[in-house]
Amino acid sequence: MIVGFIGLGIMGRPMAKNLISAGYKLVVYDKFAKIDDLVTLGAEKGTSNKDVASRSDVIITMLPNSPHVKEAILGSGGVIEGVKSGAIVVDMSSIAPAASQEVGAALKAKGVNFLDAPVSGGEPKAIDGSLAIMVGGDQKTFDTVKPILEKMGSSVVLVGDVGAGNVTKLANQIVVALNIAAVSEAFTLATKAGVKPQAVFDAIKGGLAGSTVMNAKIPMILDGNFKPGFRIELHIKDLQNALDTAHNLGVPIPLTAEVMETLQGLKNDGFAANDHSAIVRHYEKLAKVEVRK
Ligand code: NAD
Repeated sequence: MIVGFIGLGIMGRPMAKNLISAGYKLVVYDKFAKIDDLVTLGAEKGTSNKDVASRSDVIITMLPNSPHVKEAILGSGGVIEGVKSGAIVVDMSSIAPAASQEVGAALKAKGVNFLDAPVSGGEPKAIDGSLAIMVGGDQKTFDTVKPILEKMGSSVVLVGDVGAGNVTKLANQIVVALNIAAVSEAFTLATKAGVKPQAVFDAIKGGLAGSTVMNAKIPMILDGNFKPGFRIELHIKDLQNALDTAHNLGVPIPLTAEVMETLQGLKNDGFAANDHSAIVRHYEKLAKVEVRK
């Protein structure tokens, strides 16, 4: 089985490397990034999205957002022009669920099965192959590609039809953004009140308020280390997709809207490329205090 891999950025590159390590034959392509290191590891070099598709049985894409996925799959010189009938396309990017459904329907008309399979876990888990992968599509297609996905993730769950993977990812991104904001607000108050934030962390992380987000982000905040990780500009993209999806369904999501405005302010302050733990900078600015060791 030949696996095509398109989009070798922060996430795609280590994910592709894990597939090579697992023994899969890969054909790789990125419109902008260099791919020589993957070729050195044994991957074949694709010359376009169409070329990768014509040489592969399963085609994986890992791209920034809906317009990039639509261009790479449906656009001129895209996957849809080269893909073989009976092949499977798996988009692992975090995009709008409606875009996943549009891409899936266009591929289905050509006899090609499609899954949306966004991931959670960030670069460290992409490197060690322990991503959480949430998949939308039909059971048979899922069962066929599950062994491949399991080489990139430690949790691979079919959550519903095409689009359901990205609905689940939007839910994930809402929970993460609001959790960082809540942790930031609470620790800013404690610091201003004169209690050491490290002591607050040690005291509450094992209780009900503790969370994976708190464990991951408070150490970064206390060190003043906002190196991404997951960039604020990517979280803006995800919350925009969440707001659009929610409003199309008539679902108000007021807390998400509040954090979105915080992120927009941080972007204007020059922090778009910071890790999203830099949400704390907003609360620090309001209270005139820094949450540090
Ligand atoms: P990235 O910007 O580092 O990589 C995207 C790659 O796609 C780039 O190398 C770019 O050159 C390539 N590309 C763009 N348009 C293309 C096209 N038309 N054809 C071929 N290649 C094209 O982004 P990333 O951090 O790897 O994120 C990828 C996706 O994964 C995003 O949707 C992101 O939200 C999601 N994600 C990221 C993280 C994270 O921590 N970085 C975590 C979970 C999910």
